Amino acid sequence: MSSRLQVVALIDALGWEYIRERQFLDDVLPYRTALQTVLGFSSGAIPTMLTGLMPERHGHWNLFYYDPRHAPFWWLKAFNWLPKPVLDNRYGRKLLKELGRRVFHLGPTFDCCVLPHLLPYFNFSERRDIYAPKGIENTPSLFDELQREGRGYCVYTYHQCSDAEIMRRARRDIAETDATLFFLYLCEMDAFLHMHCKEPEAIDKKLNWYDEQLREVFRIARERDPEASLMVCSDHGMTPVTKHADLVGEVAKLGLRMPQDYLAVYDSTMARFWFFNEAARQRVQEVMQSLDCGRVLTKPELQKFGLNFPDDRYGELIFLLNAGWMVAESDFNGRGGWFPEGMHGYHPSDPYSDAIFLSNEKPLQPMRTIADVYYSIRDAGREVKERVAL
Ligand SMILES: [Zn+2]
Repeated sequence: MSSRLQVVALIDALGWEYIRERQFLDDVLPYRTALQTVLGFSSGAIPTMLTGLMPERHGHWNLFYYDPRHAPFWWLKAFNWLPKPVLDNRYGRKLLKELGRRVFHLGPTFDCCVLPHLLPYFNFSERRDIYAPKGIENTPSLFDELQREGRGYCVYTYHQCSDAEIMRRARRDIAETDATLFFLYLCEMDAFLHMHCKEPEAIDKKLNWYDEQLREVFRIARERDPEASLMVCSDHGMTPVTKHADLVGEVAKLGLRMPQDYLAVYDSTMARFWFFNEAARQRVQEVMQSLDCGRVLTKPELQKFGLNFPDDRYGELIFLLNAGWMVAESDFNGRGGWFPEGMHGYHPSDPYSDAIFLSNEKPLQPMRTIADVYYSIRDAGREVKERVAL
């Protein structure tokens, strides 16, 4: 049975706020809506789009999680006698990054964003290529299903090339192969909006480029199959940054020791903690609860957002900054010199965090969150006859 031709473009970080009042593919993709994102970053959101499940079910959330028994860098403990600056500098971190990516197969997104001497306590969630079969930890994804159905598909990601090259290859392959699903993961909008989300003219120009490119991809798809569909979606939005919070400094004032008393990972919009004694737990919790730049996430809230990991691998205590705040840079997160204008990873109720869903045809079911993207890709793959019968 031949399937209809489907093109899916996932534009990383293109939030609803950026297209809401702009003409972006609106004549070809008249079905448009904002989608609520998953609390967190792309590392949790994209697996949700590929499986239709929340992070607690598919297993991926933030990149680092507490797992000393399987930590790929467990052997670094043997070097604990070295003075900390030996590894904790630009070159040491770069070396660990390359080791992680090339030797320990932690995937192309691995970066050393905890203190190097704490790496022996952490594992990394994106060890496999999430855009390939068996890429998601606990569950089959869209790509496992395509493989099982024996359906030909092509996936393009930044692992191979730039957005411009992805558009070029997709145009070529749509015309020249008999694959019926083309999945374009376009990552450059994320970096662009991090730096330029407060510049409307630059955004217009950037969006025009994606508009022209995707229009042409769709035209070629329609030449091959007049029933071809096009969906354009994103994983989350981008919120303008207005303030910075020195969370690392607040916790350091307590004088607790890592790793003896506790462990912490500071992502851009949140701090996650694990504790090894009750006093440390109490004191960190008190200081986090006293801050007005954000709040400690409660268990019911984590449950509501599909983040109820029974082993607390992603954090026993999670502090989330309010929208627009960002964790001040420090030696700890190894991000010296990066001052983005925009950030994501806030509470999903923040309007700037909303993702997008644009389609040339009406989705068969209501589209509310990015998990619904998975079902709409699956539905759109059905033969037109089947869709009419539904
Ligand atoms: Zn980003």
